[in-house]
Amino acid sequence: KALCAAGIVAGLLAFLWKDTFDPESLSGARVLLTGASAGIGEQMAYHYASFGAEIVLTARREAVLQRVMKKCLELGAKKVFYIAADMSSSSEPEKVVHFAVQKLGGLDFLVLNHIGMTPFQMWDGDVEHTRWLMQVNFFSYVALATAALPTLEENQGSLIVVSSLTGKIPTPFTTSYSATKFALDGFFGSLRHELAMQKKNIFITLCILGLIDTEVALEKTRGKVYLTAAPAAEAALAIIRGGATRVHEAFYPWWLQYMCRFRDWFPSHRDRVLQSYYNYSSP
Ligand code: NDP
Repeated sequence: KALCAAGIVAGLLAFLWKDTFDPESLSGARVLLTGASAGIGEQMAYHYASFGAEIVLTARREAVLQRVMKKCLELGAKKVFYIAADMSSSSEPEKVVHFAVQKLGGLDFLVLNHIGMTPFQMWDGDVEHTRWLMQVNFFSYVALATAALPTLEENQGSLIVVSSLTGKIPTPFTTSYSATKFALDGFFGSLRHELAMQKKNIFITLCILGLIDTEVALEKTRGKVYLTAAPAAEAALAIIRGGATRVHEAFYPWWLQYMCRFRDWFPSHRDRVLQSYYNYSSP
């Protein structure tokens, strides 16, 4: 009887943990990817390309986007276009979505990934910077998603929103950035409910990442944290996998999900442990 029960449990776990990701499902998928010129976005572009997707890349630097586009074509992307746009301008999101829909004939995935530059330091009182960062990291996401909802609905598509552990559990040195990521969780979590209530076939995946070894992140955190950064190419694949398998939340590294689940169990102990990973010597 015990053996039989163990077999059932093992079977159930194997079923639950079964990897349902099929890279072939992305062949010909039409993807609009933001923040595609560097870091995790650039790595996502290369993964989508090697899976045979049709991609529109966007970020501010045109020359870099051209280089990424060239590599995507070498890797096997069916079609690649790029559009340079600055997401601090409120008119750009709609323009970018319009361009992508026109070039690809519709969208299956909208991947919201870009972020504005922000310092990794104690709160310095710069409210204007917080306002600007909200525009780049949050309001532009809302505007891009809003412009893309009709085509995503038509194609039963997915919205992939890239967030951070600091959008679930506040951490030091990230005041404004953390606020923009918490805002994403609130907005897109509520939107997910509303789409389900209206029986609209659009899926939303929120991706929660830990420290990743992008150039900018390593440069900003050097000497300030006692944490090991995980590889950007793996983070990129985890995001794509989460979106393709339509999970509500994708975590990378995987164990972050347990930190998020248990975050309120021992709050003062949690905060002491978190602070011990940050290097701060008072002036
Ligand atoms: P990077 O700083 O490496 O890249 C940012 C991208 O956004 C670039 O392509 C940049 O291109 C673009 N960008 C910057 N400003 C603007 C703007 N005003 N308008 C349009 N595009 C802009 O970021 P990461 O790859 O590190 O981060 C990607 C995602 O992963 C983000 O959502 C981030 O919050 C999340 N994340 C990252 C972590 C990490 O440790 N790296 C940890 C947790 C989450 P360009 O300069 O050409 O405009």
